[in-house]
Amino acid sequence: MIIGVLAIQGAFREHMDVLYRLHVQGRLIKKVSDLEGIDGIILPGGESTAMAKQMKENGLFEALQSKINQECPVMGTCAGLILLSKEITNQPVSTLGVMDIRVKRNAYGRQLDSFATIAPIKYISEQPLELVFIRAPYIEEVGKGVEVLCEVDGHIVVALQNNMLALAFHPELTGIDAVHAYFIEHMIKKERIDHGSISHP
Ligand code: GLN
Repeated sequence: MIIGVLAIQGAFREHMDVLYRLHVQGRLIKKVSDLEGIDGIILPGGESTAMAKQMKENGLFEALQSKINQECPVMGTCAGLILLSKEITNQPVSTLGVMDIRVKRNAYGRQLDSFATIAPIKYISEQPLELVFIRAPYIEEVGKGVEVLCEVDGHIVVALQNNMLALAFHPELTGIDAVHAYFIEHMIKKERIDHGSISHP
């Protein structure tokens, strides 16, 4: 299994470290050909406008859209969540527009620019996990096929739609790898089983 981590800008190395800890091969995605043969995609946190701009310039924008639309499992964290969304309410960003969520960017304002809290996440951890938010967005509204997995102070911070998992915080920064483990076990391996590429004795 190979998981591609978008490596234009932002926290991609930290995601590679998590994959290493979980004994999964990671591959930095910088150009379209890097997508070949990958089984899952991580869109990291960083600056969504900068990522979108470069992806448009090198063709990754359309290539990622079609890969995700073909049901390649994808996990977007923070800026990655912004990139997945269909709509941003407050500030214009070109997004991939693949996930049926409406998002507010830099949603917590100055006072709470960065903060940590704890909360359980449906399917991922019944025990509260540490969640680290850095100039984070939150989800204002989800469409029909989208399931809310976690809310903090009445705002949606984790959502799941088919092959897409979006998180407003940085699960790669706490040393607790439950979110990545869920992504690998339940979204990537499941997808492979559904499509018959894993044979079971
Ligand atoms: N504020 C960033 C953006 O809007 C996201 C911050 C992050 O990824 N930690 O793109």
